[in-house]
Amino acid sequence: MTELPCKLTLDQWDRRYDALVAGGLREPSYGGPLGRHVDDGNLRLCKLQMDDSPAALRLWNFLLSEEDRLADARRRGARLVGVLKDLGTVPVMAYSLDRVVAFYPDGAWWIPCVMEQSDGLLAIADRLGVDESFCPVRAMLGAFESQAHFPIPDLLIASVGATCDDLSAIAQRLEGMGHPIFWWEIPHRRPPEAGEDAVHLPGGCVAPAAQVAFVRDELERVRQCLARFAGQELTDARLAEGIGRANRVRRLLGQLRQMAYSAPAAPLPALEMLIAEMLAIHFCSDQNECMAVLGELVEEARRRERAGVGAVAPEAVRVFWLNPVADLRAMNVLEDAGGRVCGTEYLFSHALDPIDEDVPPTEALARSALADLMVGSPIDRAERVCRDMRAFGAEALVISRIPGASHCSLEGAIIGEVVRQRLGVPVVEVEVPPLTDAMEPTLRTRLEALVETVRDGRTP
Ligand code: SF4
Repeated sequence: MTELPCKLTLDQWDRRYDALVAGGLREPSYGGPLGRHVDDGNLRLCKLQMDDSPAALRLWNFLLSEEDRLADARRRGARLVGVLKDLGTVPVMAYSLDRVVAFYPDGAWWIPCVMEQSDGLLAIADRLGVDESFCPVRAMLGAFESQAHFPIPDLLIASVGATCDDLSAIAQRLEGMGHPIFWWEIPHRRPPEAGEDAVHLPGGCVAPAAQVAFVRDELERVRQCLARFAGQELTDARLAEGIGRANRVRRLLGQLRQMAYSAPAAPLPALEMLIAEMLAIHFCSDQNECMAVLGELVEEARRRERAGVGAVAPEAVRVFWLNPVADLRAMNVLEDAGGRVCGTEYLFSHALDPIDEDVPPTEALARSALADLMVGSPIDRAERVCRDMRAFGAEALVISRIPGASHCSLEGAIIGEVVRQRLGVPVVEVEVPPLTDAMEPTLRTRLEALVETVRDGRTP
């Protein structure tokens, strides 16, 4: 019989860990009690409620051991590539090579939250002239300056062009600080004109064939850069294998999302699902282990679904969540307020959609890069949100604003309006800073009001 899933505080988790170990739990090398990560400064764990499954334990340990994993990879002779902004394309190329590990330094975005600002990264960014008028990605500058987090990559590759102002400005500042960057251009995706050759992209958007060809040429430059860097030819065969492995990750995530967002009782909580989705962009620096972690989550979700048990009450209001939260705790708050996540667009849906495998690899990667919802019109993003909301039966939309983020200033309002008109569901826009403690009552009240609105409108 499957036990009823529940959420545990950190202290409760450490007691459960002891019981699991006594019961014969087998763990990978990075396993251990979650409480030890607090000693490394990850103070936010003390305020989170985490799923009680061994699969979730492995997920958290995998996430929180990434800096050690990167340092270890360097010690073992691997070369490190820091990828900026494209969220999901260049890492597929880098992981097609031997002894190359790629990661997103932009992920420093979450360090002020996870370390409850004890890291001082935002203060360093302030001193470097990148203040709170920028989004939390400015923490990356602090991480490069302090060198106290991820190892400084041997190569940096960044996409520019149809990129948000925050990342462009911060990446330029980074280069000015003495970290050379290989730039490649991603154009603003436009609709094909009448009679113009067009290409259907993964995820449902359509782009002019000329734009796909342009991105393909840009990625050819990236391919040559990576091959020189690694001292290996990055052949089509290698790239095709790399795409195949990335697609295995994406398919596992597809299964997980399907169960988590459509089952009558969500088999996994929103917080663990957010972290699982994040693994898609660079595999948390270990592609094989990423597949193992996701495989175990899929098994757990399947077990719970078959047993008809969920991590969240079946009557919870089905919410589609737009944009990642700067404070992970917000996902707990939603569920405490009576909601559950049924669909997401965390700025990287293109990293979740399978890459085409029936065309040459750089063509496939170009289509995938151009499918990024952030490089086109917000209307394209709104269309995708509406489609996924219908597919997952979402009853409301939460637009989670990111403080200082240039892409949030108008886009949320546009997407909210489209969703209201098309689906007639309630929409709420909330701002989630890296630490929500001071405003948690407000956030909770707004989410509770949304939940009540939906419940009142349900047909008896
Ligand atoms: S959160 Fe928005 S503004 Fe900040 S780096 Fe990401 S896309 Fe750019």
